[in-house]
Amino acid sequence: MTTFDVIDPTTEERVRTVDLASAEETDQAIARARTAFQTWRRFDPADRGRLLRRFADAVDGAIEELAQLEVRNSGHTIGNARWEAGNVRDVLSYYSAAPERLFGRQIPVAGGVDITFKEPLGVVGIIVPWNFPMPIAGWGFAPALAAGNTVVLKPAELTPLTAIRLAELALEAGLPEDVFTVLPGKGSVVGQRLVTNPEVPKICFTGSTEVGQAIMAEAARHLKRVTLELGGKSANIVFADSDLEQAAATAPYAVFDNAGQDCCARSRILVQRSVYDRFLSLLEPAVTGVNVGAPGDESTEMGPLISAHQRETVSSFVEGDDVDVAMRGSAPEGPGWFYPPTVVLPRTTKDRVWTEEVFGPVVAILPFEDEAEAVTMANDTAYGLSGSIWTGDVGRALRVARQVEAGNLSVNSHSSVRYSTPFGGFKASGIGRELGPDALDNFTEVKNVFISTGDA
Ligand code: NAP
Ligand code: MG
Repeated sequence: MTTFDVIDPTTEERVRTVDLASAEETDQAIARARTAFQTWRRFDPADRGRLLRRFADAVDGAIEELAQLEVRNSGHTIGNARWEAGNVRDVLSYYSAAPERLFGRQIPVAGGVDITFKEPLGVVGIIVPWNFPMPIAGWGFAPALAAGNTVVLKPAELTPLTAIRLAELALEAGLPEDVFTVLPGKGSVVGQRLVTNPEVPKICFTGSTEVGQAIMAEAARHLKRVTLELGGKSANIVFADSDLEQAAATAPYAVFDNAGQDCCARSRILVQRSVYDRFLSLLEPAVTGVNVGAPGDESTEMGPLISAHQRETVSSFVEGDDVDVAMRGSAPEGPGWFYPPTVVLPRTTKDRVWTEEVFGPVVAILPFEDEAEAVTMANDTAYGLSGSIWTGDVGRALRVARQVEAGNLSVNSHSSVRYSTPFGGFKASGIGRELGPDALDNFTEVKNVFISTGDA
């Protein structure tokens, strides 16, 4: 049996040793989920909804336990971790209404009646990254289960603990065996097998663009459906006519939240040149004021990075003579993979820190002249996940929002994710949408049935 030592990123101490599934065990889990699908898909829709509500209630009763587990496994701040566990509950309760509302259509045709059904796909494989272990799992499994699919979910090797607990809670809530299976394992073993096993018709993947591309290429061989949520290099565009104090005070949290390990991080700040210097002076106290420390402390705003490896990757964007650091917050010494909030001034728009996803607490700032240049610079990236627009001019807010090539934009706010609204990326940030009313379409096939009425 291969095992993995889960390490607390704050203390660098072992939390637990987890057994990793093999390719054979993955195949067996898929086969069991395939059998369970035959029953689950035929459940009375009201019962399926009721079980998902019970699952939501079980999560609700375990919020503190799940949150504390995430603090230890992932170094998330306790405040964030409570929100993340609550998000799983909310997504479950939102989609618990879906089984009874998976409406098809009745379409007028000659000679009979035509109706459509939204049929479940079968066993859905969900591959989750380490940055938001609970929410990203829930965004996949809640709508997948609601639509009548069964799920085999692979958490990231680094962060399996909350997913393992969620699977136990599902059983405690009364979900039948093998409807929702969590299978800890390596991406190259369990993840790979979910993608290559022909009994899995759909893969829901969140992670790096590189692995997402490989999954899509492999999925094409089987014509598997894919939903991909990949990286981002999102722009926070600050116009001179905005509430500059508010824009500067909130900008750090739009990128340093979760220590910057957020695909929606607004990691490029674009500031209109006429207010650029003033913005920088307002930003400085906001950056140095970010409270970095032990994630279990209620007042901590930013904890450690997930791993020593991630810290090395992040620092590679900042170390070096050709990188100008404008300001820097603090980070605790000693154990823990902490990295201070860091603001960098790129020399050109070709600098690595301006073009590549850092996935850490590093933000780059550049000035722009006018609205046209702001849009051009915002779109000068392979990614297109999210972004923010700060302006007092509602017309400009909408003009710019329509022109920025990204799936999730916020005006005078940095909000990207609500369970009731769609989430997903343009361009290299992904394919498909999660959350909101339409996510179920990504877990169903439309079937058309014509019934002859025997008319001439
Ligand atoms: P990753 O390799 O893409 O991992 C994401 C998930 O895919 C993990 O569960 C991983 O399993 C699994 N996986 C890896 N290789 C696989 C394969 N060949 N087939 C199927 N599944 C596979 O991401 P990472 O290496 O953890 O992070 C690298 C960079 O990706 C980050 O620095 C960041 O830039 C980006 N990233 C983006 C997001 C996002 O939210 N869009 C999330 C995470 C990372 P294992 O963990 O067991 O390897
Ligand atoms: Mg990887």
